Amino acid sequence: MKTSNYLKENNAKRLWHPMAHPAESLASPPDIIVEGEGVEIVDVDGHRLLDAVGGLWNVNLGYSCEPVKKAIAAQLDRLPYYSIFRGTTNDNVIELSEMLAEFFAPDGLSRAFFTSGGSDSVEIALRLARQYHKIRGEAGRVKFLSLKKGYHGTHTLGASVNGNSNFRTQYEPLMPGCFHTPAPYTYRNPFNESDPERLAQLCLAAVEDEIKFQDPSTIAAFIMEPVLGAGGVIPPHKSFMPGLRAICSKYGILLIADEVITAFGRTGSWTGSRHWGVQPDLLCSAKAITNGYFPFGAVMVSDAVAEVFEKDTSGKGAIGSGYTYSGHPVGAAAAIACLKETERLQVATNAASRGDELFAGLQALMTKHGAIGDVRGGEGLMCALELVSDRGSKAPIDKKSIGKVHRVTYEAGVMVRVSGNNIILSPPLIITATDVAKILSALDAGLAAL
Ligand code: PMP
Repeated sequence: MKTSNYLKENNAKRLWHPMAHPAESLASPPDIIVEGEGVEIVDVDGHRLLDAVGGLWNVNLGYSCEPVKKAIAAQLDRLPYYSIFRGTTNDNVIELSEMLAEFFAPDGLSRAFFTSGGSDSVEIALRLARQYHKIRGEAGRVKFLSLKKGYHGTHTLGASVNGNSNFRTQYEPLMPGCFHTPAPYTYRNPFNESDPERLAQLCLAAVEDEIKFQDPSTIAAFIMEPVLGAGGVIPPHKSFMPGLRAICSKYGILLIADEVITAFGRTGSWTGSRHWGVQPDLLCSAKAITNGYFPFGAVMVSDAVAEVFEKDTSGKGAIGSGYTYSGHPVGAAAAIACLKETERLQVATNAASRGDELFAGLQALMTKHGAIGDVRGGEGLMCALELVSDRGSKAPIDKKSIGKVHRVTYEAGVMVRVSGNNIILSPPLIITATDVAKILSALDAGLAAL
């Protein structure tokens, strides 16, 4: 490995970081992570940190998941690549599809289309939704609806349904025909409603209103995250997703669950949809499907949607979408091993218990630190602290101050993620109660530095 000085000096000279201003990366160089073990990471200066970010919501099983590493190495030896485009396939994707069908059976999803990551999965799901309606003779159903504050990746369709202007404005014009409705975000919402259940009803009424305004026969799908993640961890009230399911069914609109973060145990249930008792028509997955060790994803399709494609005799059911790395045999080998470990370790159960402890601990921190305006979580291991400079006006805390919280928490041995005025926590799902206590005490120190 190159020296620490070389790495620090050269990082931003040639490398542009996703979601960062190039000038900012030069002025304040990022932390260079060089090792990972268990739930910890080590930076280039030998500083050991508990990774409360879990990579990027994906390293659910930590950094030492031997079965996944071994499966990747063994597959590289046996068959490092072959495509599954029409005419060929590989043994791993066949086995994986069977395992995924079993895993997602309670969600009513039984067919898999493989991708190289979350943005790809979103893109495919949106394309399949339009195609589904075309096959059925409803070619006018081309529009998409989604929630403000939702995050659906970087590709153009995904960015078009994205509900955060930061990820949109520099790239406009995006796809026409994409419309957004208010998020069930209790802390800030256009209705000034602080009761989550009443807010859910208001947001659902806004969805129905938008559908009628657009004309239901023009809408292909509604896409939502069961718990909004990158937008600042916004868990909707339990009535929201079932209500949305009912509205979509009423108007013949497909419901796409974007579970790039929530699938495989993050919410304390095996999937976010199951968490809310909802069966989506399509489900996007990626991230934890390989524990972050290999870029991979899968779009799961319901029986009813699948049948429309499979029984089509017009030719419209031919899937004109695919990635060179769709069904990559190494990714599939990693996913098979990962699914087995995910189930063997019953990580969803641990995520639920540790998530409750973390959420309770964060609520306790709120009584101590005036900068915490809102604490969100309570649905497994995804939580956020929204920091404000004044609780009364809810004015977001400034960048420098939240940077300070991050730095002091880091010095105390815990990596957290800053997104806008939120501190986001999405640790590996294998963390222990001691790890939770460590996250809380480091954050306590970080907040005390304000
Ligand atoms: N959808 C959701 C809900 C996500 O959280 C993300 C990534 N954070 C994506 C899509 C995009 O996934 P990727 O970064 O793997 O392309």
